Amino acid sequence: SYGPRMPLTEYDLTGRTALITGAAGGIGRACALLLARAGATVHCADLDEDGLAGTRALVSADGGTARLHPLDVTDDTAVAAVVDSVVRSAGRLDVLAAIAGIMHTAPVLDTADEDLDRVLAVNFKGVLYACRHSARAMIATGTPGSLVTMASGAVDTALSGLFAYSAAKAAVVQLTRTLATELGPHGIRANVVAPGWIRTPMTHRDDPAGHRTAAMARRSPLGRAGEPEDIAHAVLHLASDASAFTTGQIIRPNGGVAMP
Ligand code: NAD
Repeated sequence: SYGPRMPLTEYDLTGRTALITGAAGGIGRACALLLARAGATVHCADLDEDGLAGTRALVSADGGTARLHPLDVTDDTAVAAVVDSVVRSAGRLDVLAAIAGIMHTAPVLDTADEDLDRVLAVNFKGVLYACRHSARAMIATGTPGSLVTMASGAVDTALSGLFAYSAAKAAVVQLTRTLATELGPHGIRANVVAPGWIRTPMTHRDDPAGHRTAAMARRSPLGRAGEPEDIAHAVLHLASDASAFTTGQIIRPNGGVAMP
């Protein structure tokens, strides 16, 4: 029995502090907006300072509070400094959404070493740094936090030309599962979101004519492509107490199609 009917307070993030990387656009911006709407103070980190200012304007117009942190997630010292400044201002860090990422396409045989290094640096090590510093802050402040990472439907299948990207995302899955195992005793949860094809600046750059968006809509039993808000709702679930018994899991908001 669930007891008397009441508001769904388990989704309420009032008084909580969230750090969101990649918050200048696309999925990260949608997450900033939704977590702020749920009541969190959102600390938005990204390379793109203009995009960050745009996110803050949207959060403020919606009645929320956003703080901005220009950041390159591949810089471990800089990531540590951002986490530090969040904890100094808020006294705690409840949620990390590690969303910053880059796309890269090339066949395995043509992938240049420096491209592989860059994709691993942003999409894997950047996530590792953010998780590591955030988890240390959660432990130090005794906060039972939630780490949410961003993989991709590309981890469930092999797509021609998506080798470096999908390898980095597969590494994120194993990182997150391991964090869940190691940090559970501190009350810290860690989960991965693996979106399908979502309409964002990233996918627009990769597919300006919208062929894959159309393919996604055609193949999905739901008959449409995904939007950043679809992913933000999955992140809110994992960030909030609604998922208190969920850790080490991959959730797949993908309209029923791993990748078009
Ligand atoms: P996007 O390009 O629209 O947004 C990514 C953001 O990350 C940008 O604001 C960018 O400035 C930022 N960023 C890139 N490198 C950075 C760095 N070194 N330091 C700090 N910030 C950096 O992309 P998106 O589609 O919103 O993707 C967000 C995440 O979701 C990525 O990790 C992506 O791999 C993943 N994803 C996207 C899709 C999709 O279909 N759009 C599908 C699966 C997974």
